[in-house]
Amino acid sequence: MHREKLLDLNEAIQFPGKVLSFELSTELEEEEDIDLLSSLHGTLSAVSNINMLTITGHFETSVVMECARCLQPVVVDLEFDINEEFPISGIPASMAKNSYAQIKTEAEFAPLFEGNSLIYEELLRQSLWLNLPSRQLCRSDCPGLPGIETPPEPIHSEFEEIYEILKKREQED
Ligand SMILES: [Zn+2]
Repeated sequence: MHREKLLDLNEAIQFPGKVLSFELSTELEEEEDIDLLSSLHGTLSAVSNINMLTITGHFETSVVMECARCLQPVVVDLEFDINEEFPISGIPASMAKNSYAQIKTEAEFAPLFEGNSLIYEELLRQSLWLNLPSRQLCRSDCPGLPGIETPPEPIHSEFEEIYEILKKREQED
């Protein structure tokens, strides 16, 4: 079975106020629909305020996209911030005897955590998708592919005409 790459955030969750920071770099090998030209890299920090774990980060990478007009590959440099909050249940271990706090495993967050460990590539993958331009041009005045800048004239076939005539006759009957 494929083993997820995990970032253990338990220390931040049990010790509210303590900031954990990580330097991360990934090729996002699991992501087949994004063509990374350079690794996705940056820093990620996690801190808890007892009830909520806040994860912030700043990442950059370059991706290869297709020009929406001429379909040629375009290199797009991307830079984005991450700012996510995840609810915590239980009392942190540092605040009471025999206590333990953990990330609430609500369905919407579950795929991002295994216990108190973040499946960080999944968070980075989702954040990257959110920050990808939906439409990219190689240059603002890209002329597009020769011949298909304007949609072709609709072809009016003889069959269509015959069909229309038959339909009219049917209605008249
Ligand atoms: Zn183009």
